[in-house]
Amino acid sequence: MHNPGHRFQAQDRLADGAQYIGGRLTKGTSGRTHAVVNPATGEEVYTYELAGTADVDAAVAAARAAFPGWAGTTPGERSDALHRFAAVLAERAEEFAQAESLQCGKPLKLTREFDVPGTIDNTAFFAGAARHLQGQSAGEYSGDHTSYVRREPIGVVGSIAPWNYPLQMAAWKILPAIAAGNTIVLKPAELTPLTSLLFAEAATHAGIPDGVVNIVTGLGKEAGEHLVGHPDVAMTSFTGSTAVGKRVAEIATATVKRLHLELGGKAPFLVFDDADLEAAVHGAVAGSLINTGQDCTAATRAYVQRPLYEAFVERTGALMASVRVGDPFAPGTDLGPLISHAQRDRVAGFVERARGYARVVTGGEVPQGELKSGAYYAPTLVADAGQDSEIVQAEIFGPVLVVLPFDTDEEGIALANDTPYGLAASAWTRDVYRANRATREIKAGCVWVNDHIPIISEMPHGGYKASGFGKDMSAYSFEEYTQVKHVMFDNTAVARKDWHRTVFGDRP
Ligand code: NAD
Repeated sequence: MHNPGHRFQAQDRLADGAQYIGGRLTKGTSGRTHAVVNPATGEEVYTYELAGTADVDAAVAAARAAFPGWAGTTPGERSDALHRFAAVLAERAEEFAQAESLQCGKPLKLTREFDVPGTIDNTAFFAGAARHLQGQSAGEYSGDHTSYVRREPIGVVGSIAPWNYPLQMAAWKILPAIAAGNTIVLKPAELTPLTSLLFAEAATHAGIPDGVVNIVTGLGKEAGEHLVGHPDVAMTSFTGSTAVGKRVAEIATATVKRLHLELGGKAPFLVFDDADLEAAVHGAVAGSLINTGQDCTAATRAYVQRPLYEAFVERTGALMASVRVGDPFAPGTDLGPLISHAQRDRVAGFVERARGYARVVTGGEVPQGELKSGAYYAPTLVADAGQDSEIVQAEIFGPVLVVLPFDTDEEGIALANDTPYGLAASAWTRDVYRANRATREIKAGCVWVNDHIPIISEMPHGGYKASGFGKDMSAYSFEEYTQVKHVMFDNTAVARKDWHRTVFGDRP
């Protein structure tokens, strides 16, 4: 193991607790503790006191107190702070990569080359975007008035994040919110608080005022629900499963909050018969196994047009079987464990039940030997399942790809659209008309052509259908984190205005 003693660099700094409130770490007051477990070994690496409702109240109060000052800064000042923030993150990149790999079981090459650089780039993007809040230009739309639009921050944002990309999810929630002048309280998943805490600490180090970024680490039912229902929280931004998203929506709606939901996915991977088979096979393996398949946009359902079907199944199965599963800190590792033993067992359950109606082409096993104590699962390809079966319809969130054949283009697109989800999809073809049709007709927030997974700070990420609504990243996220105010000035200086006759008296 390349992480002696399974410690992370910042372990001593986080000894003060896992709540970051008003610019400092404190211990949660719920009376209960929770452990961060290294999923590669099952060992506890960090035990902390969970946040209770009083900690959420304290964090919201800190964010509320910081709001007028932060909202009153100029876009240039917020931009400068975010540039400094990006620089601090870049200095600490390796510390973030190590902590993220340790708490999630992600291979170091993934955290070093994707999670951490992506977060630094996102921070730099929002440093620029902070100075570029756009709106309609002022004008005399009624003839007698000048109208303009102010784009204003909303207030205290309460955000809830999942465990699959803890650092990136914290960044996606915090950066657009604070770039637009809001303050925030983020609740990371209780399994993975480390990099959210380090992110908030880095914000303070960069000079972002105390109370602008707060982290409460607690259970969803307790700290999460209290945050969503809190009367001083103006907006809820949630990323997680569709089931929990529905509960969050109920609570947020009862208190009339702005709501942004980024929920589950079951992305189709549509291979037409003119596709580059080599590209499609490599894309399917990388696109389904990224982050051990715990990615809301991961390729989960490959639909392959009949002439390529058998070859696709055979080659994808062979390539999957060659993926090196192992210690996230070992240089030769491609794929780490799942987030927890519970998640691994859940994934295994889907595959075991599918054996009754489908064919497991490769994988479908819990690796033994050296990997026995970790939450590992072999990359798995399942063929011959029915479209209505559980393994095709439900979000598995593990290294499992299902492959099905189709005949006509219409059928392929219809099958791609045939789940409740609509987060992401890809179409594989060399025919521009087919590609254009697929991108037009697939109901998803992102459609790739001849690739699957890449994201970029400038472009929006968000769902259609049961995958939620609202956008993370890009200038579009400002639509979530700002509200527009219409300001209207009378230009006539006339006491008795023409329109008053609709209410009283006659025309003057
Ligand atoms: P989850 O829904 O179980 O938990 C997400 C967060 O919600 C956690 O912080 C959890 O503590 C909290 N939570 C749980 N119950 C709550 C409640 N009653 N009230 C308030 N908060 C509560 O999801 P997960 O298992 O952590 O993450 C996996 C899910 O996240 C998958 O469904 C995946 O598709 C989704 N996800 C979506 C996106 C996206 O952009 N659409 C990105 C990443 C993950």
